[in-house]
Amino acid sequence: MDSRTIGILGGGQLGRMMVEAAHRLNLRTIILDADNSPAKQINALSSHVTGSFSSSKDILELSKSCDILTTEIEHVDTNILEQIEKEGKVDVQPASETIRVIQDKYLQKEFFIRHNVAVADSVKIDTPGVESLENVGKEFGYPFMLKSRTLAYDGRGNYVVKSKEGVPGALEALSNRPLYAERWAEFTMELAVLVVKTRDGRTLSYPTVETIHENNICKLVYMPARTTVDNRARAQVLAEEAIRHLPGAGIFGVEMFLLKDGSILVNEIAPRPHNSGHHTIETHSTSQFEAHIRAILDLPLPPSITAPRTSTTSSIMLNILGGPDPTAHLKLSKLALETPGATLHLYGKSESRPGRKMGHITVVADSISDCETLIAPLVAATSYTQS
Ligand code: ATP
Ligand code: MG
Ligand code: MG
Repeated sequence: MDSRTIGILGGGQLGRMMVEAAHRLNLRTIILDADNSPAKQINALSSHVTGSFSSSKDILELSKSCDILTTEIEHVDTNILEQIEKEGKVDVQPASETIRVIQDKYLQKEFFIRHNVAVADSVKIDTPGVESLENVGKEFGYPFMLKSRTLAYDGRGNYVVKSKEGVPGALEALSNRPLYAERWAEFTMELAVLVVKTRDGRTLSYPTVETIHENNICKLVYMPARTTVDNRARAQVLAEEAIRHLPGAGIFGVEMFLLKDGSILVNEIAPRPHNSGHHTIETHSTSQFEAHIRAILDLPLPPSITAPRTSTTSSIMLNILGGPDPTAHLKLSKLALETPGATLHLYGKSESRPGRKMGHITVVADSISDCETLIAPLVAATSYTQS
């Protein structure tokens, strides 16, 4: 299909599903991450690099044996990616500048404001302290969200400041991290859209989904989102607008808030496949993972790739999270095997920890209500995460 070797920074579940998609097209992928990481397990090659996507030395090492570099995670060393880009021997997609903007959530906010993309009000906190946070409380009211600008995922890096009395706890929880604060978004629903950006700058978007978070971690994804056709269409337009000005190709996850008054704000974006697009493996002929691979290699991406298999195709995805008992999630996995219309994906993570994403289950049917009926026993079986 294409003789170029793709180097992937990061070998977690997103890298693993990228490898699955690439291999089906006879494309070669090599991974930079720890030995036996999920993506390496299904890709037996001696050329993988053992190390970290945050190490410039290791990224340079990976670049020596591939033609194109991409990432499954935004927390990578972008200085070395920029250097590799400038040397011009290895292609970097999406561009290092895009990853640099996205990996700092406050730079993201500034980027969106510059391009007239609606976001929640936010303020940078240069000197974290009781006074500066109380000033935020005066301006934004309570609750407000205190966020780490960098290295955030699954809500680790967020703190809800509920009142003036909550300020010291917030400072303690996020000490030694670069901070900014965000006005509370009174959303009625969280939406997400996967946008593919092609090498020639076109944008294509998958249908708007609804994401449901529990303890800041994505738990369920409904496709389509249970809101009006108009809201879904506006979310797609906003999502495409949010990524239109970012250099480079690939897939982007755009997280949004649907507010009470019907307006939609962008929460944050990811320069890679996203948890809100896992269902596309079953609901679409071209998954988000394959779309990413096609986009970075400039392989064909007709607009039809974002349409579900049929006009009624609906799905619900449920994340399988680790619980306090390290084997509890396996019961849920077995139940998925007994559920009609369900597909189980396990990620090969050797150790289970509370809240860790161990796998996911997708149910597909001809309506959301049929999906809800199918998934109900599986959702009930997630109660182990609370015990
Ligand atoms: P991810 O795993 O998606 O990268 P993250 O750690 O970067 O997560 P955010 O996406 O910033 O965290 O926030 C996690 C969740 O917290 C959101 O999906 C939303 O439910 C809630 N949240 C974030 N910001 C706000 C806000 N300003 N107002 C209300 N709720 C918010
Ligand atoms: Mg994030
Ligand atoms: Mg998020």
